[in-house]
Amino acid sequence: MLRSYGIPCMVLARRAPPRIVAFRGSIGLKEDRGGGVTAYRYPDSNVFYRKLGRSYPRVVRGEGCWLYDEQGKDYLDAVGGAYVVNLGHSNAELADALARQAREFGYLSATAFTHGPVEELARELAATLPGDLDKLYFLSSGSEAVEAALKLARQYWVEAGKPGKHRIIALAPSYHGNTLLALSASAREQYKLPFREWLVDVTRIPAPYAYRCDCRGADAACPTCSGTALEAAIRRAGADTVAAFIAEPVGGSSTGASTPRPEYFRMIREICDRYQVLFVADEILCGAGRTGTWWAVDQYGATPDIMTMGKGISGGYAPLSAVAAPERIIDVIAQGSGSFLHAQTFSFHPVACAAGLAAVRLLKRDRLVERCARLGRVLHERLAALTRLPHVGDVRGRGLLAGIEFVEDKTSRAPFPRAARFAEAFTEAALEAGLVVWPNVGHADGVNGDLVVVAPPFIITEQEIDQIVTRFTTAHAAAVSAVKAGAR
Ligand code: PLP
Repeated sequence: MLRSYGIPCMVLARRAPPRIVAFRGSIGLKEDRGGGVTAYRYPDSNVFYRKLGRSYPRVVRGEGCWLYDEQGKDYLDAVGGAYVVNLGHSNAELADALARQAREFGYLSATAFTHGPVEELARELAATLPGDLDKLYFLSSGSEAVEAALKLARQYWVEAGKPGKHRIIALAPSYHGNTLLALSASAREQYKLPFREWLVDVTRIPAPYAYRCDCRGADAACPTCSGTALEAAIRRAGADTVAAFIAEPVGGSSTGASTPRPEYFRMIREICDRYQVLFVADEILCGAGRTGTWWAVDQYGATPDIMTMGKGISGGYAPLSAVAAPERIIDVIAQGSGSFLHAQTFSFHPVACAAGLAAVRLLKRDRLVERCARLGRVLHERLAALTRLPHVGDVRGRGLLAGIEFVEDKTSRAPFPRAARFAEAFTEAALEAGLVVWPNVGHADGVNGDLVVVAPPFIITEQEIDQIVTRFTTAHAAAVSAVKAGAR
């Protein structure tokens, strides 16, 4: 008998579970193979998709930097999915490491036990981390790591006898995740709007985003580009209310791989020390070798108090993130309440840690961070050609992380109006051309702005980099035509 649980039975009975049939490669095309005609899109499937208005190609195989859908179409995964697949798809050593661990034990409660993978992974990562950061707390997603890092900063100040220090300062534009505290720290108004009443107030300073700064990043005295804007913000808020400043050492999606001036984070370090504010470096996107050094912050000679990592640390073979902190911070809690108030069922997950351990060991054994730095130079040299395209305003970044910003007018740097949806049109055109990139919008002024980021696996070859440029050029022409056609 169908029980309604208060929902009219008519609604429950409205649609029988659909049978999924093949999606035909190019977006929007569907094929009926008899019965339950549908495609991989809402509401034809039982999946509640991220985007409810588009069809999804179904991927059946991945190899190195490539993905293949069920129609045999190939996609050059130029952004490792979401800055995650640093070691390429279908790596047999990683797959074996996961299987080995699952055969021993798949899950343990981190409240009761510890295990080999978490101990070894923490030791391997600690050896790569700057300064005194050598204690690691493992979680699953980047958002969780940011939540935990900010809560650690807050709990530290409470237990250190300074309970007034609660305020967070963050950059604009910025992104630090989608759970409520991480979203509060993010300057993504379009994501925040419906949840405004649930979010905490976070103080903002402008991000060091040279392409959009009046000084173009060239003025060492510019408060935004030098970092002194942080000092002014702390003084305005009152240092005894500020717990932490959070920033990405190299901008991720939000500023399209913008790199601050070389002295920026030394200035941030100095200011944080002067006002007793904890500096939290969010390396979820830019860390784990992505910018050509183990951690992006290594390139500034400044050590954060707390660091978050995620995405690439397991190469994407299992959801894994972590918070790193020094003894001088953890000790305050060890000698105070005795436990960090952020427990989650899947923290320190054995299979996820086994994936992380295998990934980190592979990065070290095959010297893939060094390879990332070398191939990064090739990537930037080849991508420079894209600035000749009519709507590419800037190409920037470091290592195998590159942002390409689109503008309507290259001289004035005026962005396309948001209504043109250029980044979306480009991303769909790129997928059609067999190229996976990551789009971002709104960075130019909070509403307008279109960019895409590429961040390929560290195993990419020079020939594959050339393929990125070719496919990008095709997608650019198609997106310009689509946007012009839409405007008519
Ligand atoms: N921090 C940064 C810099 C990110 O780029 C992201 C995700 O893109 C996050 C945090 C949140 O990570 P996740 O999506 O794994 O929750």
